[in-house]
Amino acid sequence: MFEKVLIANRGEIALRIHRACKEMGISTVAVHSTADADAMHVRLADESVCIGPPPAKDSYLNIPAILEAAAITGADAIHPGIGFMSENQRFAELVQEHGFTFIGPSPEHIRIMGDKVTAKATVMEQGLPTVPGSTGAVKSLDEAYQIAKKTGYPVLIKAAAGGGGKGMKVAQNEDGLEEAWSLARGEAKAAFGNDEVYMEKYLGNPRHIEIQLLGDHHGNCVHFGERDCSIQRRHQKVVEEAPSPALNAKEREFIGNLAAKTAGAIAYRGVGTMEFLYEDGEFYFIEMNTRLQVEHTITEMITGVDLVREQIRVATGVPLGYTQEDIEFNGHSIQCRINAENPDTFIPSPGKITNYHAPGGLGVRVDSAIYEGYKIPPNYDSLIAKLVVSGKNRNECILRLKRTLGEFVIGGVDTLLPLHSRIIAQPDFINGDYSIHWLEKYLAAEDAKKNAKK
Ligand code: ADP
Repeated sequence: MFEKVLIANRGEIALRIHRACKEMGISTVAVHSTADADAMHVRLADESVCIGPPPAKDSYLNIPAILEAAAITGADAIHPGIGFMSENQRFAELVQEHGFTFIGPSPEHIRIMGDKVTAKATVMEQGLPTVPGSTGAVKSLDEAYQIAKKTGYPVLIKAAAGGGGKGMKVAQNEDGLEEAWSLARGEAKAAFGNDEVYMEKYLGNPRHIEIQLLGDHHGNCVHFGERDCSIQRRHQKVVEEAPSPALNAKEREFIGNLAAKTAGAIAYRGVGTMEFLYEDGEFYFIEMNTRLQVEHTITEMITGVDLVREQIRVATGVPLGYTQEDIEFNGHSIQCRINAENPDTFIPSPGKITNYHAPGGLGVRVDSAIYEGYKIPPNYDSLIAKLVVSGKNRNECILRLKRTLGEFVIGGVDTLLPLHSRIIAQPDFINGDYSIHWLEKYLAAEDAKKNAKK
């Protein structure tokens, strides 16, 4: 087992990883930018190293500084967390070349899945269904017109290097294709330095269903069921739940086993998530994330498994030690992402937290690194807390979520708390009747109502 792990991240996820390490008897090294000198992940870690100024490119993305911090503190392994260096093949290679263990998949798996064109081709070879569209990268606008003619409109142009919903544009019809094509490529170039795009049929009413996977270094791979992450804004998840209210036991078993079989066939190791769109009883693979997900929490709540602990354990090379049959599912769990953003305009709201009260009680978990007096820096992601609630069933979970949202106080900055209270009170949400387009339609309808009153 590792004696010391360097956590190359910040905020709630750095704290989450720190907690798993402590329970495993592993000491932790935090790294931080000058903007995060007072951050909770730094305060709680056994050691900390400042790795640069506030901009992420100079600190949390500064590979030499991170490796140096690992060397001077004598860390055995580096956990990349979520975002930042977590899906950077070169980083994973360099970590290993410098004699540390990278707590994550092999650099080769990061490469294959990081390019969505290669990822789709790889899983298709293993028999996974994918969204109809181009068979690889689309090289020209002429080719795009031909593919769209075959699949039918609307179509989606997507960045091969995509992530975070960037570089993705819909063309409703032939007239809109040229614009979508150039906008997607422009955005992809700006965000990822790579303007390669591919195409998919734009599904009208799908749900986002993803499967949590874990593989070891010995070819064993299991799944921990699905998460429904259909409540999204601008292709970004806002609320997640497990299990999905849309799947029956047969579908659940089918897609879970198929995903685990595919990951096993490519000898995937570590935690990973295969994402699917689900429409009219059919699943379509869209991508695989080769890291921990923000919403891993809800899976932990219904399985009782500490996924970060398992991730660290398999990184040492030990076999899983259990099989699919040993994984049990109990109850229901929902996560609300609490961003420091205006709940109507979604404009980020950094600043000082003047008062703070977190909810508690049975079935309530708050993963957060904020505290009263903490100053949210403007430089990073606006996620400041994850409210994770679980119950015996979905109904109990929703009632508990309503209660906890009412107790949660985060003063001094705007947050999405009021939006979450509104979402979970909607009949569609209560009935589990929503697709990936539901939240945007709901927000547009609310705006229209407000404007009509003016
Ligand atoms: P990213 O890596 O940028 O998050 P994904 O491929 O995972 O991109 O897609 C993000 C979200 O975009 C999905 O959860 C879904 O809401 C939407 N999306 C992706 N592909 C399609 C599609 N073919 N049709 C409709 N919506 C899609």
